[in-house]
Amino acid sequence: MDLKNYIASIENYPSEGIVFRDISPLMADGDAYRAATHEIVKYAEEKQIDMVVGPEARGFIVGCPVAYELGVGFAPVRKPGKLPRKTISVSYDLEYGSDTLSLHADAIKPGQRVLICDDLLATGGTIKATIELIEELGGIVVGCAFLIELKDLHGRDKIEGYDMITLMEY
Ligand code: IMP
Repeated sequence: MDLKNYIASIENYPSEGIVFRDISPLMADGDAYRAATHEIVKYAEEKQIDMVVGPEARGFIVGCPVAYELGVGFAPVRKPGKLPRKTISVSYDLEYGSDTLSLHADAIKPGQRVLICDDLLATGGTIKATIELIEELGGIVVGCAFLIELKDLHGRDKIEGYDMITLMEY
């Protein structure tokens, strides 16, 4: 199955000159969603994963079915103020300004083997911040899985040395 048939490309969204890659047609098709999930599960199966972590909001859509299939838990990474208990946070630079991501302080136990899932790797800022949060809690990031990689933005360089899989490239 060619998963790219289930990605919509929207020109000039959310701003002029940007091509937004939209995974909602893939999510809307049971076979495509399952095929993508199974490809990530296959990648993760030998890694002895203890927890899956995904950044909001599309990281939940990719990561939760993978966690379910692997029979492990899922921990959400969220924007500040969304998680109700004690959190740790990390800030990272954007082209204009900065962003902050949070994780519950007890989401990962020291030594746990973690798989990170998200829909798309662009500049790598989100994945790098997510790795920092997991490692601050003593987790070991043993894999990163994305549906889509935007090659021109070189996000891969930001996470050199970490194992990763991307199902589609643009
Ligand atoms: P990065 O931090 O620059 O790597 O951006 C990745 C994050 O931004 C992911 O969590 C994506 O959900 C989101 N993102 C960036 N560009 C797109 C896009 O074209 N389609 C869908 N999500 C995107």
